[in-house]
Amino acid sequence: MPFSTMKRVLLKLSGEVLMGEGPFGIDPAFVMELAEEVKAAKETGLEICLVIGGGNIFRGMAGAAQGMDRAQADYMGMLATVMNALAMQNALEQLGVQTRVQSAVQMDQVCEPVIRRRAERHLEKGRVVIFAAGVGAPYFTTDSGAALRAAEMNCDALLKGTSVDGVYDSDPKKNAKAKRFDTVTYSRVLADDLKVMDASAVALCRDNNIPIVVFSIREKGNLARVLKGEGVQTVVTNEKS
Ligand code: UDP
Repeated sequence: MPFSTMKRVLLKLSGEVLMGEGPFGIDPAFVMELAEEVKAAKETGLEICLVIGGGNIFRGMAGAAQGMDRAQADYMGMLATVMNALAMQNALEQLGVQTRVQSAVQMDQVCEPVIRRRAERHLEKGRVVIFAAGVGAPYFTTDSGAALRAAEMNCDALLKGTSVDGVYDSDPKKNAKAKRFDTVTYSRVLADDLKVMDASAVALCRDNNIPIVVFSIREKGNLARVLKGEGVQTVVTNEKS
């Protein structure tokens, strides 16, 4: 995939990366490092939409496993994503990057609601738009939120910044011989249940032909390297390699 021709991307960060080396929550110093990565990417001229998960604070499934009502727990998870979005907004604005947070669960005192046409204007004006609260409904995740926003905002790619440097044929933490794909098709990801994103998010990207680029956001400078085509990553597309 020619990264150099991309104009607009959606960057999805899992909530866990905001913990830095900590066991839980938000490490403001590490969020600042992530914001620097985003700023550097923005300075290449790209328009950037951001989606941040909430797993560093609360996941609905975990609450449900402990006896909570699943939908109620999911709404708590969505609120966690708003906290992360505000933390990232704070860090980016401290670096001089203008941002707007748009939440799929309306909360007027802290951010805007999701309004696509307004988000378009923000991007045109050079602002980073951070989409919070996923799709705004329980039983979904922020991966689906990321795929949905990438589709409706006409993003050229969905960049998934995570703790591993791509998609493997088995868990690299458990299997030393696990092989990383340079490219892999959506259908293989779905058929083999490869750990990329939720099936609904992968299917939405497949149906709208949005490449998913999986890379490690933990290494400094990696986002910029990936965007230059010099990084280590896996690209999920319709094309067979
Ligand atoms: N969530 C939800 N609907 C959405 C997005 C998120 O219910 O559209 C809830 C869900 O409980 C999820 C939690 O918010 O577990 C945090 O999001 P996610 O697990 O996607 O975060 P990540 O794994 O990326 O940190």
